[in-house]
Amino acid sequence: MMSSLDAFAASKLAQLEARNLRRRLVETDRREQAYAMRDGRQLISFCCNDYLNLSQHPRVKAAAIAAIETYGTGSGASRLVTGNHPLFGVLEARLAKLKQAEDSVIFGSGYLANLGIVPALAGPGDLILADELSHSCLLMGTKLSGAQAHIFRHNDLAHLAELLAAHRGAARHCLILTDGVFSMDGDLAPVHEMAALARMHDAWFMTDDAHGIGVVGDGRGSSFVGGVKADVPLQMGTLSKAIGSYGGYLCASKVVCDFIRTRARTLIYSTGLPPASVAAAIAALDLIEESPDFARSAVKKAALFARALNLPAPESPIVPLILGEAEATLNASALLEAEGFLVTAIRPPTVPEGTARLRFTFTAEHRDEDILRLAGLVRERILPRHAAE
Ligand SMILES: *Cc1c(COP(=O)(O)O)cnc(C)c1O
Repeated sequence: MMSSLDAFAASKLAQLEARNLRRRLVETDRREQAYAMRDGRQLISFCCNDYLNLSQHPRVKAAAIAAIETYGTGSGASRLVTGNHPLFGVLEARLAKLKQAEDSVIFGSGYLANLGIVPALAGPGDLILADELSHSCLLMGTKLSGAQAHIFRHNDLAHLAELLAAHRGAARHCLILTDGVFSMDGDLAPVHEMAALARMHDAWFMTDDAHGIGVVGDGRGSSFVGGVKADVPLQMGTLSKAIGSYGGYLCASKVVCDFIRTRARTLIYSTGLPPASVAAAIAALDLIEESPDFARSAVKKAALFARALNLPAPESPIVPLILGEAEATLNASALLEAEGFLVTAIRPPTVPEGTARLRFTFTAEHRDEDILRLAGLVRERILPRHAAE
């Protein structure tokens, strides 16, 4: 007899399986230059967020190894107890400088950052307005906060203005949340216009730039695209993507960062990042700051792919190809894998129902000939099948 617990899990899994929505972990051994080994086969990965391949960079690896030799493998406690090893201060100063903010705070991950920051800044009696395609952790942070929440249509400034007009007056504080670079679509939020709306309504504006730092705005992120810094008082992001390491951060004024260090539960009650992760991030920032061309290289590779398929010029290293149904997307992903390319199918609930997609991500070290061969396969084998359905 199955226990009720096991029966619950088995029936949930069976329902998901029937809708092609069950997830599976596949062992993947990532190598240099976007290569990945799966089941003994070498594939070229076009679905990794290590946009500058820094997780494999000799200088980044050496910095992590040196930090282990000096400080050990773990930080041993919350940063507020004894976990605040000396590398944190170095990295926080570097991030603040890169983002032209007074200060920054490092969290255990991007997800933890948003679960800590949003409820520290807003609660019952406050208003949160969030883009409908915001990352899961912004929306979970919103839920945790207990604030009144409204979702605006993706990048729809008129809808945001309408919600501000309708609800701002009754709320004590208002927080506006959006991805800076949208993780599953690759487009940018109109941060200048949103910042202006926020100022007009005395709302606090926060961007999640997980996919922006390192690769757009000359490596400084979405607040810096176009050359004029947008007025974003809360610039959040991750060290786990283009930075090639692990961890999350918030760049903000000194007083806001001090408040977050005092009140964000996911910082207070979670162990500080290992020294190696922090050291790796510092070395990665060195490389990004040394060369704006290097920071631009991932978007350039995405642009080559998009041109080959007559798609609009990408604003980030992310190019989505929306195929609609989960099954069609799984089939397309399998077809590419058989040809040596790793492009994971992205399905609901990661993306809205009916918008399952291949999400291609490009990295500095992808070879042009591989990108063009991939584009050829998409053009000749995936798009015609899709059009016929
Ligand atoms: C990946 C991601 C996060 C989470 O960051 P982690 O450091 O991986 O936890 C947060 N926001 C966005 C938009 C992301 O894409």
